[in-house]
Amino acid sequence: MRIVFLGPPGAGKGTQSVRLAKELGIAHLSTGEMLRAARVRRTDLGLLVADYLDNGQLVPDQMVLDIVADRTALADCQPGCIFDGFPRTIAQAEALDRLLAQRHTPLDLVIELVIDQGELLKRLMKRGRGDDNMATIQQRLQSYENQTAPLVKYYSERRLLNSVNAAGSAEDVYNAIVAAVESVK
Ligand code: ADP
Repeated sequence: MRIVFLGPPGAGKGTQSVRLAKELGIAHLSTGEMLRAARVRRTDLGLLVADYLDNGQLVPDQMVLDIVADRTALADCQPGCIFDGFPRTIAQAEALDRLLAQRHTPLDLVIELVIDQGELLKRLMKRGRGDDNMATIQQRLQSYENQTAPLVKYYSERRLLNSVNAAGSAEDVYNAIVAAVESVK
């Protein structure tokens, strides 16, 4: 099974998608984690993306696409995978569709975590990750609105979208996600 998690920073994509991946026995792929890891290891890619991460801007599509093409070819993705934080632009979504079509493994479901701005800001300020300061948080929310939110329509038109209220407790949100997965099994 291949599932995309869509939603603004702070919506809970990481927490929920890690749990779901374990439950389903499929791989969890977070492009954000992969980019941060590259940066810590100071690889060529890591050095290239550092400024984007610090400023809360999306890294260029091609860099993310290369990572995803390599990562999804590994054996642990054979039974399926969850894309957490990818795609984030229409161009990325189109490229993912092409990649998965070539491999005859299309997406099964897109889960959108829906939550309002006020709650997001509260959560992000509490989280306090390295790239979580007021300026980058606001830039990341902007990037989401401008570049990623259009994916809601993109996936809705393809009949893949399932929207879940992400304002409740982690447990309630998870149960709603499991129900969405069951509905396409
Ligand atoms: P969050 O969703 O909480 O902001 P992520 O870990 O998903 O955190 O992403 C952190 C940063 O990594 C983003 O702000 C962005 O700079 C970069 N990034 C992650 N995924 C992508 C992607 N698919 N396309 C472009 N940039 C990305």
